[in-house]
Amino acid sequence: MNLNIDLHSHSAQSDGALRPSEVAARAHERGVDCWALSDHDALSGLPEAAAAAAALGMRFIAGVEVSVTHQATTVHVLGLNIDPDYVPLRDGLRGIRAARHVRARRLAARLEECGVPGALEGALREVNNPDLIGRVHFARFLVQSGVCQSLREAFERFLGDGRKACVPVAGASLEEAVGWIRGAGGKAVIAHPARYRCKPAQRKALFGAFKDLGGQGIEVVTPSHTPDQCRQYARLAREYDFEASCGSDFHAPGAGRADLGGLSALPDGLTPIWRGWGVDPSF
Ligand code: AMP
Ligand code: MN
Ligand code: MN
Ligand code: MN
Repeated sequence: MNLNIDLHSHSAQSDGALRPSEVAARAHERGVDCWALSDHDALSGLPEAAAAAAALGMRFIAGVEVSVTHQATTVHVLGLNIDPDYVPLRDGLRGIRAARHVRARRLAARLEECGVPGALEGALREVNNPDLIGRVHFARFLVQSGVCQSLREAFERFLGDGRKACVPVAGASLEEAVGWIRGAGGKAVIAHPARYRCKPAQRKALFGAFKDLGGQGIEVVTPSHTPDQCRQYARLAREYDFEASCGSDFHAPGAGRADLGGLSALPDGLTPIWRGWGVDPSF
């Protein structure tokens, strides 16, 4: 029997739309057997998520998606099966959340230069967790205030990578992120590797550095990948001896490319990241 495993999702504790318990219920309804919540730079949704999953009889994996700055590029590193009480991880993420507030002020100043005043106050009205502000909250403000018709337009005109109001988060170093995750007993996984705008040689350098630091996996099955990219990253996982992960990167009903639990199976010949977790009797 193939288990339905979804190890990447967001709640309103970062930039998702639903409460952690609502994400749990939706995952369960959609047939997920093993689910991870992995909010951006935040652990605060995990207790509610774990309790909701337990009540539904669904296996839960504590996760987080850490913002990393590596050679001037933002890279997302998932920490999966972490101990959310590990103090260096908690402290490190608190630092990134503080950097997000500094970034939000700069982002608002850029929007002001683009003729959109009041964006910081506006974005802060859109956050559910006052401790975590990101581009999606600015996008929601741009829609709410009628500047843009859709979140998509907000990213295309202002907030997307390389657009006028895109200010990167000052994230952790790759070494810090992998160290915190491994210290917390988790596995470190490069999220949606095809999404980073870098040349193949830089991607190889990233994979090499990540491997040397103790990174264990890459996401192979993600809605960010085309079927070709899925095959390509499956090959790279075998080449680098990375374990493979899969996740929907769910943020909100009806938004984005995939919903919870709607993923295809891992390609053959890969070691799943959940090996050793007692999730799947074949691993
Ligand atoms: P941040 O970590 O604050 O830079 O925000 C990154 C988040 O913005 C991603 O996790 C997505 O939720 C969202 N995002 C980034 N690019 C886009 C895009 N082009 N369209 C819609 N959402 C996006
Ligand atoms: Mn997001
Ligand atoms: Mn991401
Ligand atoms: Mn994500």
